[in-house]
Amino acid sequence: MSWLDEFDERLAQLDAQSLRRRRRAVLPEAGARLQVDGESLLAFCSNDYLGLAGAAPLRAAVHAAVDTYGVGSGASPMVSGHSVANAALELELAAAVQLPRALYFYAGYATNASIVPALVGAGDALFSDALNHACLIDGARLSRASVQRFAHADLQQLDALLAASTARRKLVLSDAVFSMDGDVADLRGLVALCERHDALLLLDDAHGFGVLGPQGRGALAAVGLSGAAASRRVLYMATLGKAIGVAGAFVAGHYSLVEWLLQKTRSYTYATAAPALLAEAVRASLRCVLGAEGERRRQHLQALIARLQAGLQPGADAGIAAAGWALLPSSTAIQPLIIGDNTAALAVMAALRERGLWVPAIRPPTVPAGTARLRIALSAAHSLADVDVLIEALRQVARTT
Ligand SMILES: *Cc1c(COP(=O)(O)O)cnc(C)c1O
Repeated sequence: MSWLDEFDERLAQLDAQSLRRRRRAVLPEAGARLQVDGESLLAFCSNDYLGLAGAAPLRAAVHAAVDTYGVGSGASPMVSGHSVANAALELELAAAVQLPRALYFYAGYATNASIVPALVGAGDALFSDALNHACLIDGARLSRASVQRFAHADLQQLDALLAASTARRKLVLSDAVFSMDGDVADLRGLVALCERHDALLLLDDAHGFGVLGPQGRGALAAVGLSGAAASRRVLYMATLGKAIGVAGAFVAGHYSLVEWLLQKTRSYTYATAAPALLAEAVRASLRCVLGAEGERRRQHLQALIARLQAGLQPGADAGIAAAGWALLPSSTAIQPLIIGDNTAALAVMAALRERGLWVPAIRPPTVPAGTARLRIALSAAHSLADVDVLIEALRQVARTT
């Protein structure tokens, strides 16, 4: 029997373990609602944290850009794909995060998967938080550097690993906001360790840029590590498909480091540049994010987070407490409700869906075994009433499980 015939069996195994993933084709409606298979659902699964993905200034920017630039970029940025829109965006991104220089990429996953191998190789050492995003893990594998995982947020262990390493080039990898837990890394602690051990730090702020810090300038600015206080050892990476509401990513930091990445990153050189229409959409989004509109949206998001936490805290509802469900301690828009068992998490997701709500159940291998959860993602597109609907539905479902 050819191994080609094993795939159906392996898919059946995924079904048996409740691990088969399925997509839904969606059509956006007003607010945070999505039409799914003809049914209108109130969605809590989007990373569009500021509700900008459908905002009028972004739409207008795209319409205008199509008239000027057409649709595709036509080539790698190293050939003719680097439009004046993309060039302008890089200057604006660097200014937004208050770092010397930025490089604009077409996708976040490809960015991390390929900048890590551009920085380190065989004989070098990587130190990676256990809960890091898959693209940092894949970048580490591609690099062929030795990889040491430290327990999530355990800076004592990281300190010991860095001290014990004899590698000349050491690179620490960490999410700034952890995508499935919503907690924020101790950035001051990480930078201090890198200073002490002559290491560099690559920080993935996919979930912080636009939301955290003054004017949404991101996780570094939030702790005063941008501008004049920026460390030359930190490479800051963030994506543009989440709070920014578009697509793509960028890396920013010390001028020579970014210039090196421009020279050596394979997914930058060998991929077609992001189209100018996306760069123009990001530029329009940045103007919102950094201005009064962004401030208003961030404040509303904070109110939604507070409302959800108050409604689901252990003392607030006996049913939720009895079911053993608990929110993880997170101050960001990512509010995970731990259910535990895979099948139970799927059952809760299904029960919410019957009530017109879409909250994704996240299971292993994306999260550790036994910590299946609902990953509740809030967005400025939600109303306080939307959050109340979710709280009430969860209380009802908790009573029936
Ligand atoms: C979403 C995400 C990425 C990938 O970015 P894309 O632009 O969607 O490819 C990278 N890192 C983290 C932490 C993410 O959450």
